[in-house]
Amino acid sequence: MSDCLFCDIVEGRVKGDVVYRDESVVAFRDIRPQAPVHILIIPRKHVATILDLEANDQTLIGQIFLVIAKLVRDQGIAESGFRVVVNSGADAGQSVFHLHFHLLGGRRFGWPPG
Ligand code: 5GP
Ligand code: ZN
Repeated sequence: MSDCLFCDIVEGRVKGDVVYRDESVVAFRDIRPQAPVHILIIPRKHVATILDLEANDQTLIGQIFLVIAKLVRDQGIAESGFRVVVNSGADAGQSVFHLHFHLLGGRRFGWPPG
């Protein structure tokens, strides 16, 4: 075990319901889903928050969005719509400090978010 839960999932030390992996990105189902589709997309490398990204992470972030588009199609929510969320810091309720993109779909969402 490391001190980062999502690093442990990337390394297989903690079990995750992984739906996609490549050399730089891993995606797995959220353990407490807030919608019929709720997948977390993360970089393999540990980046705590958006504010910790570096210039050479541009390709990584681009790859994350390409993976999100693939998952949206694979999960059948391209037509109905979906939401991508990054909670950052205390006001947004970030609870795991390894950058993760929530992909949510399969139901209608309210706006503004709570
Ligand atoms: P945050 O609140 O930081 O934006 O999102 C963290 C997310 O990680 C939450 O939606 C929470 O349900 C999810 N989560 C926390 N622990 C685990 C775990 O052990 N496995 C999985 N798959 N998701 C987790
Ligand atoms: Zn980590």
